[in-house]
Amino acid sequence: IVRVSEVTKNFDLGKIVVKVLKGIDLEIEEGKYISIMGPSGSGKSTLFNMIGGLDKPTSGKVFIDEVDIAQLDAYELAWLRCRKIGYIFQTFNLIPVMTALENITLPMTFAGVGSDEALDRGMALLEQVGLSGRHGHRPSELSGGQQQRVAVARALANTPSIILADEPTGNLDLTTGEDIISMLKELSVERGVTVISATHDYKMLNVSDQVVWIRDGRIDKVQQREELNIRTGKLETADT
Ligand code: ATP
Ligand code: MG
Repeated sequence: IVRVSEVTKNFDLGKIVVKVLKGIDLEIEEGKYISIMGPSGSGKSTLFNMIGGLDKPTSGKVFIDEVDIAQLDAYELAWLRCRKIGYIFQTFNLIPVMTALENITLPMTFAGVGSDEALDRGMALLEQVGLSGRHGHRPSELSGGQQQRVAVARALANTPSIILADEPTGNLDLTTGEDIISMLKELSVERGVTVISATHDYKMLNVSDQVVWIRDGRIDKVQQREELNIRTGKLETADT
């Protein structure tokens, strides 16, 4: 469902050019749960922005459903970002002046869903993430975990086939993080949503079908679930 081909990304800072991605090749199958792990600064978020069509590679291509996203016009790209991909961020990125429900219905409005249907679906999503009754709360009136649940619901607003989650548990305590992880896992198992998550959270490995280790802008190794030795709790790291 996602194919990344020879992607590089440089940031031109005037005096120096920072080479962040140095040739990434990656293929992700539909319905899988993929974790992207690697040290801080290794290029995980940058890669995410490429896959999600939020930024353009310096060279190389990103295909979603075998379509080169660089070839999309503005309208098609907007459609991709709004309908096909749901985004979840470490810092939740909810709109502070909007209620939980409004945050969730906003992407539906962008997608042209009528307001009655958006409200119904928004309420159902809130219930699904365990926040019934919180629809009128603004982000500042919710805990971090609750805010991330709203963000998960928002990501699901237009029933995307791909969820891109950049350190979704980075700002959450252990148990709340686990809740979010199992929620994402459920989406991949029960609805066939492809979940791609950058993370430092080793708990994420327990649910991953595939782990991509990134180091210094390159893929260090790709491990399948069978290779993760999860049962014993002993996890390989990029250093081993
Ligand atoms: P973390 O685990 O801390 O989130 P990461 O793997 O997500 O790290 P990135 O955010 O992708 O890392 O950043 C990789 C490198 O790219 C860093 O050295 C960063 O400074 C640089 N970088 C990212 N975005 C830009 C930008 N817009 N301009 C210049 N440099 C950037
Ligand atoms: Mg990052």
